[in-house]
Amino acid sequence: MPSNTSSLIDLDRAHLIHPVAPWRKHEQRGVTVLESGHGAWLKDAAGNELLDAFAGLWCVNVGYGQESVVQAATAQMRKLPYATGYFHFGSEPAIQLAAKLVEIAPPSLKHVYLTLGGSEAIDAAVRLIVHYYNATGRPGKKQFISLERGYHGSSSTGAGLTALPVFHRGFDLPRPEQHYIASPYLYRSPEGSTAQSVIDASVQSLRAKVASLGADNVAAFFCEPIQGSGGVIVPPTGWLKAMRQACTELGILFVVDEVITGFGRTGPMFACQAEGVEPDLMTMAKGLTSGYAPMGALMMSDAVYAGIADGAAPGVPIGHGATYSAHPVSAAIALEVIRIYQEGGMLAHAQKVAPHFAQGLDALTAHPLVGEARHRGLLGALELVSNKTTKAGFDPALGLSDLLFETGYRNGLVFRSFGDNILGFAPALCYTEGEFSQLFRRLEKTLDEVLAVPEVRRAL
Ligand code: PMP
Repeated sequence: MPSNTSSLIDLDRAHLIHPVAPWRKHEQRGVTVLESGHGAWLKDAAGNELLDAFAGLWCVNVGYGQESVVQAATAQMRKLPYATGYFHFGSEPAIQLAAKLVEIAPPSLKHVYLTLGGSEAIDAAVRLIVHYYNATGRPGKKQFISLERGYHGSSSTGAGLTALPVFHRGFDLPRPEQHYIASPYLYRSPEGSTAQSVIDASVQSLRAKVASLGADNVAAFFCEPIQGSGGVIVPPTGWLKAMRQACTELGILFVVDEVITGFGRTGPMFACQAEGVEPDLMTMAKGLTSGYAPMGALMMSDAVYAGIADGAAPGVPIGHGATYSAHPVSAAIALEVIRIYQEGGMLAHAQKVAPHFAQGLDALTAHPLVGEARHRGLLGALELVSNKTTKAGFDPALGLSDLLFETGYRNGLVFRSFGDNILGFAPALCYTEGEFSQLFRRLEKTLDEVLAVPEVRRAL
């Protein structure tokens, strides 16, 4: 390892706090410094070549090293590196981006608020929904419903809409106005469940939850079209549409969080477009800039926009905004990234290669450790079980998650493990057929090596 790397590891240990890491354990393990990237490949500071099967953090959809994105950023930085969006200022890339997003999003969404990332987009959604109901004379509507195993960011509010224990524990969450219904998780549903029974159960749970809170008190239902950080849970086709319809009937806003699923990750530009679903509000980030700079967005319907705009006293500002809202460099990057998806043909390419991803995951269900493979487009997961009949998981004391990640890393493969039994994959949209073959060769080797560990073998 180069000496510069060992000094970086010491500096990191001493000073840099890592997101969503066990802090003391991280100090012991030390950081893995990632140094460069090209296409679907990363290189670490020790010189290891790694095939990235997770697009960074499900965000680098166009792959690393896209020169035209670098040029778009550089040109904007030279011309105007910063322009506030506050009050009545703006910049050309931000305006063009808003128009572009309206063009590519479901037709219900006509207005765009540009943020720094997904968490801030969710936070803006919650704040503006509260404002909307106050402005439209329904101040009682303040209860929020989301899904168990959902993830909606790490702001104080979003982490409460999130229903994953590590984001609540020690943070005094959820708040009293945050409620959950069961996840549409067919693999873990009672014996005999079908796609339709899972959809019906979700609709019934939403209705029951709204009834118990009182329809006049419920503001909105938030969901991801496919639950990402909760373990890549792919609901049955038709689920999103049924939830949209239920929200309309119940008189609550339907908010779709497309932070992971947006920008071609599951096939169409946005996952909700596969079912012709039109949300009242929609959040996005990640693939918006492909991670080349931070940016997210909140989109909303005419009705929500007008409710807020007309509810405020004339000339009084709507008090929500940040210094870097609608940042022109991020906006210029997003415009170029979207051009690559569309004119550059990357969305079409992703749709063409997606069957290789699906086949590779499906084939691994024959492996002794794998209970289920699930996927849509280039988003997928393997759920590992110690017994395929009972679907029992593994004792957390086994540390399977770390073992899988470290073994994969030694085999030159980066993916994500959730809890102790789910492996998640979100390859860049630029993956070639040959890269999928390499991914699955490395993944199978990793699973075989983990299976050969005596403690794992004994757990089966
Ligand atoms: N919503 C979803 C569905 C996400 O997956 C994430 C991030 N993983 C967020 C919101 C938060 O986005 P960010 O990390 O950009 O703040």
